Amino acid sequence: MFEILEKKVWLAEEPRITELLVKAPEIARAQRAGQFVIVIPVAGGERIPLTIADKDAQTGTISLVFQEVGASTMMLGRLEKGQRIPHVAGPLGKPTHIEKFDGAVVCVGGGIGVAPIHRSLAR
Ligand SMILES: Cc1cc2nc3c(=O)[nH]c(=O)nc-3n(C[C@H](O)[C@H](O)[C@H](O)COP(=O)(O)OP(=O)(O)OC[C@H]3O[C@@H](n4cnc5c(N)ncnc54)[C@H](O)[C@@H]3O)c2cc1C
Repeated sequence: MFEILEKKVWLAEEPRITELLVKAPEIARAQRAGQFVIVIPVAGGERIPLTIADKDAQTGTISLVFQEVGASTMMLGRLEKGQRIPHVAGPLGKPTHIEKFDGAVVCVGGGIGVAPIHRSLAR
């Protein structure tokens, strides 16, 4: 079970955009940029993929930013701080190839995909 430590609603009008800070130490330690998790929001629910928008290996937390577009993302959005997500599996997917470049770097993202880019640049 994965405890929700914080919840923030970024966009209150539908479809809502919500961020959950979730305790998941092993995933936070192993995560690389561009990877995602598979979440089951409620016991017996369906599996949905969500990108890991941010992580903190020291506090053992990951951030999920998602748009509530259908049944499962709405169920996830109804969970509150202190409640637990039954299943979070990952990190999954091929990490983004990152190199050190001289000069300006342009990062391109779309929709909720901008959340991980914003977090990476904010650091
Ligand atoms: C690798 C990966 C990473 C992702 N990361 C993120 C992320 O970080 N954040 C994020 O917000 N999303 C992300 N997504 C998308 C996210 O997984 C989906 O939004 C989520 O699975 C939707 O599940 P749901 O049950 O809430 O919605 P669903 O019920 O699956 O509905 C999804 C959409 O389809 C429409 N729909 C459903 N059924 C029908 C129908 N019969 N006829 C017409 N329209 C229909 C719904 O209205 C809705 O707009 C990611 C997807 C992938 C593949």
